[in-house]
Amino acid sequence: MARRVSILGATGSIGQNTLDLIARAPDDYDVVALTGAGNIAQLAKDAIALRADVAVTAHENLLDDLRAALAGSGVEAAAGTSAITECASRPADWIMSAIVGAAGLAPGLAALEQGTTLALANKESLVCAGKLLLDTAQKYGTRILPVDSEHSAIFQALIGEDIASVERIIITASGGAFRDWPLEKLAEATLDQASSHPNWDMGQRITIDSASMFNKAMEIIETHEFFHVSPEQIEVLVHPQSMIHALVGFNDGALMAHVGPPDMRHAIGFALHHPERKHLPVERLDLAAIGTFEFRAPDEVRWPALRLARETMQAGGMTGAVFNAAKETALDGFIARQINFPQMAHVVEDTLAQMFASDGHIDATMTLDNVLQVDHLARKAAKAAIHKRAG
Ligand code: NAD
Ligand code: MG
Repeated sequence: MARRVSILGATGSIGQNTLDLIARAPDDYDVVALTGAGNIAQLAKDAIALRADVAVTAHENLLDDLRAALAGSGVEAAAGTSAITECASRPADWIMSAIVGAAGLAPGLAALEQGTTLALANKESLVCAGKLLLDTAQKYGTRILPVDSEHSAIFQALIGEDIASVERIIITASGGAFRDWPLEKLAEATLDQASSHPNWDMGQRITIDSASMFNKAMEIIETHEFFHVSPEQIEVLVHPQSMIHALVGFNDGALMAHVGPPDMRHAIGFALHHPERKHLPVERLDLAAIGTFEFRAPDEVRWPALRLARETMQAGGMTGAVFNAAKETALDGFIARQINFPQMAHVVEDTLAQMFASDGHIDATMTLDNVLQVDHLARKAAKAAIHKRAG
């Protein structure tokens, strides 16, 4: 029987890779919903080709354009953030959460609340509200499958193992675009330079986050939230080839590494077919031809985001939501050329300090409303910090 699937963030990099796998076996899937934002042509094209029930854009003002693009196809059109959450609660067997940013949280929760397996690429929602997502999955008797390559790798290395025998988890980082730049040049890094990754082809935001290591910082928190290991058990290792995605170290000293080409279709396909493994159209590594894997310790002066992630985990509670919102806002500021590259970390640091100082005004019970409230306040504080830095 065909499996009912929905893809949230279908027009993005993860979304398109997911559709690539689904389109290779169209009879196996019954596509319920595809969602996107500004790229109406792509959204409509895919929705028609895959015969989705509904296509949804996040932008209400684009509903007419979407309707026009879908005219005569039989695919329903909808728009707005609440329409995205509504379509995530339509019955499905598997939902890919590949929206970028905290905007993925409410739809992810809606999917879990109707008992759907959630393939989670949207790491921001785990950073903002990991406990809420995991508790919701447990309450509704469903599961979250990690799609971030490192977390898929950890998940695979843990199959058949007892988490109690894990000593440490090592996630690797390519080091991004500025790994080897002189530190004093980072303030001159341009948007174009920050938007090009040495190994992975990804959305612009995560590519810049890779250069600043905010992506790895988010992934440390993601590892802590998802696998319930302590911050001290999580290490980052710079590995320029991006072929070992993560390693799990056990109490007998063994390290289990997950090795594969830098192609997100592996992690996506693993989550799509779980608990089976099926053939995937990814390159088979020729290790003899590759010859060498390199490793280095991460430099926390170059990448202050790693320290900020540790401070965020230590503070706990809603601090992840502050960290994520500050990071997203700082990234907006860099993309808008209001602040320079190293100033993104300063803005996050200022925001964390300011939110700690105003602690007590926030209801720290982790509900969706409270998380969104903290997100809102932190964005405001981060905008003020950008203004201060820019001024
Ligand atoms: P992308 O920018 O290429 O795509 C983002 C998608 O989200 C698009 O479909 C866009 O239309 C949609 N979107 C953007 N803003 C939205 C909003 N406010 N409301 C609803 N939808 C919105 O991003 P990506 O690289 O595909 O990343 C998606 C998620 O997966 C991110 O959380 C990212 O961190 C994570 N991730 C990506 C990769 C990768 O290789 N690209 C790897 C690991 C994890
Ligand atoms: Mg990753």
